[in-house]
Amino acid sequence: MSAGEWLDSFPGVRRHEPLARHSQFGVGGPAEWFITTRETTVLAELLRRCSDSGVPVTVLGAGSNTLISDDGIDGLVVRHDDRTLRVADEHTVELGAGCMMPRVALDCASRGLAGVEFGIGVPGTLGASVYGNAGAFGTEMSDVLIDCTSLDARGEPLTLTAAECDFGYRRSRFKDDLRDNAIVSARLRVHADDPDQVRARTDAIQAERKATQPYGIRSLGSVFKNPLDDKAGRLIEAAELKGRRSGGAQISPKHANFIVNVDHATAADVLALVHIAHDTVQERFGVNLEREIIVLGKQHSDDHRG
Ligand SMILES: Cc1cc2nc3c(=O)[nH]c(=O)nc-3n(C[C@H](O)[C@H](O)[C@H](O)COP(=O)(O)OP(=O)(O)OC[C@H]3O[C@@H](n4cnc5c(N)ncnc54)[C@H](O)[C@@H]3O)c2cc1C
Repeated sequence: MSAGEWLDSFPGVRRHEPLARHSQFGVGGPAEWFITTRETTVLAELLRRCSDSGVPVTVLGAGSNTLISDDGIDGLVVRHDDRTLRVADEHTVELGAGCMMPRVALDCASRGLAGVEFGIGVPGTLGASVYGNAGAFGTEMSDVLIDCTSLDARGEPLTLTAAECDFGYRRSRFKDDLRDNAIVSARLRVHADDPDQVRARTDAIQAERKATQPYGIRSLGSVFKNPLDDKAGRLIEAAELKGRRSGGAQISPKHANFIVNVDHATAADVLALVHIAHDTVQERFGVNLEREIIVLGKQHSDDHRG
């Protein structure tokens, strides 16, 4: 009997779910087991029982920052899809981890709440944006987070203030000592402003994004973090890699720090380009680019190059 056989009869759990459906890049093999839930109590029960039975758990958001292995992911993949957005008072919004950041930005703008306009540029969930301290156009999650609640591997809740999350550039404790925790909700700090002004700032960010980044084509966002005092895109472009292809993946001709899916790309195609970009920039400029995209699943998970 396999350790996770009980999952086959757990309500809502599916076997061999193709994860390409849950990846904005459209790539990824099957999850051994998969569930989408809005219920924190269900997530807590799943975490506890998986911990008891030794089944690995992977939490997935909107799949906008992850490259999922062509061979899929062992164990249970959970998407916590609570999209609750509640205005607690004129300084605080309470959000479920499944809220999409662009929707948060637009909803807050329509209510005349400023501070989260940057969310329009982050096409992922609130939970993952806390996990990776997502940011755009000068604001990061760490600038607006009041606190967040997660469940540990036993399903026990833990609430941390922003200071306790130990945020850095695209990092938090959830990538480190709290890597087994699933973020379920957060409270963000906002302030009252004229709805038209907030919306105008949100639209300006969106326009800037469309002008400078590949838009309307599948990508994973920035592939590498920017090194100190430089830009990964500038370095990859200077290495003459814009437009370089591997299988169905291409280094975007518009922005060199993006890889786009031009023709049924595989995870292996993307990783080949990641390695080419990393190694060429290292050879030419002596800069060791650090990968921003997250690689999940079998076969590639031990490959931290770049
Ligand atoms: C076109 C494009 C533009 C982008 N622009 C930006 C940008 O300007 N700034 C920026 O910061 N990012 C950007 N991104 C990247 C991405 O949108 C962000 O990193 C976003 O926060 C990821 O959200 P997600 O829900 O898609 O996460 P996923 O890709 O689903 O997951 C990312 C990681 O978070 C973990 N995770 C997911 N949910 C949870 C949870 N509830 N609890 C704990 N861990 C969790 C996953 O295990 C995974 O390791 C861009 C991506 C694209 C495709």
